[in-house]
Amino acid sequence: MEEEKKSLNFIEQIIENDLESGKHKEIVTRFPPEPNGYLHIGHAKSICLNFGLGIKYKGKTNLRFDDTNPTKEDVEYVNSIKQDIKWLGFEWEGEALFSSDYFDQLFNWAVEFIKQGKAYVDDQTAEQIAATKGTPTRPGTESPHRNRTVEENLDLFNRMKKGEFADGEKVLRAKIEMDSPNMHKRDPIMYRIKNATHHRTGNNWCIYPMYDYTHGESDYIEGITHSLCTLEFENHRPLYDWFLDQIYDDKKTRPRQIEFARLNINYTVMSKRKLLELVELGLVKSWDDPRMPTISGLRRRGYTPESIRNFADKVGIAKRNNIIDVALLEHSIREDLNKKAQRVMAVIDPLKVVITNYPEGQSEELDAVNNPEDESMGKRKVPFSRELYIEKEDFMEDAPRKFFRLSVGKEVRLRYAYFVTCNEVIKDKNGEIIQLNCTYDPLSKGGKSPDGRKVKGTLHWVSAEHALNVEAELYDRLFMDEAPDGHKDKDFKDFVNPDSLNVIKNCKVEPFVKDAKPGDKFQFERKGYFCVDADSKPDNLIFNRTVSLRDSWAKKNPNQNQQKQKQKQKKK
Ligand code: ATP
Ligand code: MG
Repeated sequence: MEEEKKSLNFIEQIIENDLESGKHKEIVTRFPPEPNGYLHIGHAKSICLNFGLGIKYKGKTNLRFDDTNPTKEDVEYVNSIKQDIKWLGFEWEGEALFSSDYFDQLFNWAVEFIKQGKAYVDDQTAEQIAATKGTPTRPGTESPHRNRTVEENLDLFNRMKKGEFADGEKVLRAKIEMDSPNMHKRDPIMYRIKNATHHRTGNNWCIYPMYDYTHGESDYIEGITHSLCTLEFENHRPLYDWFLDQIYDDKKTRPRQIEFARLNINYTVMSKRKLLELVELGLVKSWDDPRMPTISGLRRRGYTPESIRNFADKVGIAKRNNIIDVALLEHSIREDLNKKAQRVMAVIDPLKVVITNYPEGQSEELDAVNNPEDESMGKRKVPFSRELYIEKEDFMEDAPRKFFRLSVGKEVRLRYAYFVTCNEVIKDKNGEIIQLNCTYDPLSKGGKSPDGRKVKGTLHWVSAEHALNVEAELYDRLFMDEAPDGHKDKDFKDFVNPDSLNVIKNCKVEPFVKDAKPGDKFQFERKGYFCVDADSKPDNLIFNRTVSLRDSWAKKNPNQNQQKQKQKQKKK
């Protein structure tokens, strides 16, 4: 039993204690996104946590849109958020909920606060209020309006609601203490005026409740037991509790706020506001651009829900902030697709090969394994003929001794096909290699050695006559810096990689993929995992490279270091 407990994370421990002690019979968690952007991989962590706990402890998990800021929110975001959660494999309890559904209740409670002398209308501007908040070591200054009578406050608050004032002219503030050691408790704003149309309540309201007031009270309305949020909210917890104290009925469930470390990933920005900037400035194509760390971007790139859930699992739940290597995310998708993905041969950068001793006009079909990791996926036929394509980089004229691919006079295996030897190189007038003439050994069918002689290299290839022409989109990291938003003197956009997208037309793929539909996933042997893009059409197939087969950056980075060292030496 003790052993088992140790492997629980700290939130699971709290929950198990609460269930054992009888504090709660059933747990209720919630995922509370603000519909002001598309979800990113950080949200996926919170989704896996909240919904995962609901499943593990046979409780419930609500989806609640925290929609208190009409100017930033939109139904487009509501719909995308729902789609992403479902795609990740989770179901929320009942209908989706909205904080805006509680606007009446929140207003009535605010009126109660005023009647009990716990809230007042302030005429100061947001700037004045911020300027009189004090510092952690120096108390704040009381507003000249802090001691308005209950009657005056009720009258003003009702007139705020009726729309008699302009934006920013008045706010409702909680009356707590201006010398609290916790800055958040220095008479925080509860309501502000915003004459704006809300995506759900239309023009019914022109005053909107603030996050700190709304969140805890909404948790309470829904009977949330464990309200999980990221560490930045730790300092807000006393205020969360204060707002609850004012309305709490001890026959009802009292929610408890628990903070955990947010997900940070290197070479990535993880903020809806910043991701929106990338979209609005056209630095990426859209929210679901395959280079974006959004859930929709990862989906379009070829990530599977399983790979994201496994990633969230591996990252775990911690109490201290840390930075996760993006290689771990890439590892999760390689691991999943290695088991699942159909293998095919595709040549990204084609070089023509003519098998001079293979009869003209003839072709044959050879057996190829669909996935060596999973025999049940079976085999397929791959056409072979006199003219083929191989990858340009698989041939070298003056090859070093350790180059185990093709060069003149050398023999290699064409996967699933034959041993071939290169005899002649044909160049155009600029000296560019345009064709290789080779001979094949008919006795090596299936790529098997006929007499025990060995070849070092095995190449992928495609029959020219049978190949499909497709487009491949190869991606590099969107940011060139490990912490793009971690520089005081520079904007995160300064680190956008100008070469993050490489579109390659006229790649050659075996005909097996001809019916591929958006979302279908393949391993192009030796080249990586690819996913058919959402804009792909039968007559113009587009393949996004999800990830290469190995971590290419692990090799690249030592080079960068060498370059840096060289530069240093030059300076000396
Ligand atoms: P952003 O700064 O990207 O807008 P947010 O926290 O403001 O993020 P919300 O829509 O308010 O976005 O977040 C919904 C939930 O997701 C919250 O409970 C929040 O704590 C959680 N969340 C947001 N970012 C992360 C992250 N990087 N790691 C883990 N959880 C996160
Ligand atoms: Mg937010």
